[in-house]
Amino acid sequence: MDRNLKIGIVGLGLIGGSIFKALSVLHCDLFAVSKSNQTVKKAKNYSPNVSKSLNILKACNIVFVCTPMNKTLNLLDKLDNILSPETIVVDVCSLKDFVCKKKYSFKFIPSHPMAGTEFSGFDNSFETLFLGAKWVITPFKNTSQKDIKVLTDIIHVLGAKPIFTTPKQHDESVALISHMPMIIAQALFAAAQKDKLALTIASSGFRDMTRLATSNIEMADDMVKFNSDNIQNALLKLYSSVGDILGNNYKPQIKNIVKQRQVMYVDGKNIL
Ligand code: NAP
Repeated sequence: MDRNLKIGIVGLGLIGGSIFKALSVLHCDLFAVSKSNQTVKKAKNYSPNVSKSLNILKACNIVFVCTPMNKTLNLLDKLDNILSPETIVVDVCSLKDFVCKKKYSFKFIPSHPMAGTEFSGFDNSFETLFLGAKWVITPFKNTSQKDIKVLTDIIHVLGAKPIFTTPKQHDESVALISHMPMIIAQALFAAAQKDKLALTIASSGFRDMTRLATSNIEMADDMVKFNSDNIQNALLKLYSSVGDILGNNYKPQIKNIVKQRQVMYVDGKNIL
C-alpha cells in the first residue's frame, strides 16, 4: 500500500470506525467525518483530522463512504461538489445496484465488506473486524486497474480478500445469505414470542438462530426496502428447498449438508 496516500472516511460507525481504527494503528494519513459531536471527539483520540465538515476530505486520494444506506446517495452528491475528479470514492453499502445508477465526477468504486456484527456505532467498531473477511467490489467497465489496485491494497492491509462481481449478482447473493436469514431470525423470534414456555426454556440453538434478529434496525429496514424483489426470490428458493429436503430422502440429504457446512468454516471464518 502507498504510504503517502491521504485516506478519508465518512461515517464513523461500526464499518467506518473499524476501517478508521485499523488504519490508524498502521499510522496511515487519515481524515474522517462523522455526524455527532461525541463521535468526532472520541475519534480525535486516534487522529487529529476529524471533523463534522466534509471539507476536511478535500485533499484525500481515496474516501470511504460508510454512512447508513439511506443517507449514502445524498452524501455522494455532496462529495461530488467538494472532491477533485482524481479522488477515488468507495462506498461500503450492503447493496450495490442502487448506488451504481448515477454518474459522479470523482472515480467511484462500489464495494461491500462482508464483515459485521449485530452492533452499531463508533464504540462497537474494532480494528480487527475485517480480518479473514471477503470484500466485494463491483467496479464499472471504465474503472482503471490502477485505481482498483489502490483499493485492493487497502483491503489487503485490513486483512480482507477482494472478490469481484456485478451489482446485480451481488444483490441476489446477499438476499440469500444475509437479508433472508435476518428476516427468518426476526420471524422465528416473533413466532416463539407468543409461547411463554418456549421462550423460558430456549437455549443456545434458539440463541444462535435468532442472533440476526438483533441487527441494526436502520440497516435492516434499508435492506428490506432496497432489496425486496431479491428477498422474495430467496424466500421462494427456501420454500422449495424445505420441500426438497423433507419430501424425499431426508437423511442422505442432511448428511451431505452436514459434510459441506462443516468444511465451509474454520475457526469461524469462511474458507471457501
Ligand atoms: P452504523 O454503525 O450505524 O454507522 C453509521 C454511522 O454513520 C453513524 O454512527 C453516524 O455516526 C454516521 N453518520 C450518519 N449520518 C451521517 C452523515 N450525514 N454524515 C456523516 N456521518 C454520518 O452503521 P454501519 O453498520 O457501520 O453501516 C454503515 C454502512 O456499512 C451501511 O451502508 C451498511 O449497509 C454497510 N455495512 C454494514 C455492515 C454491518 O454488518 N453493520 C456490514 C457491511 C456493510 P455518528 O456517531 O457521528 O452519528
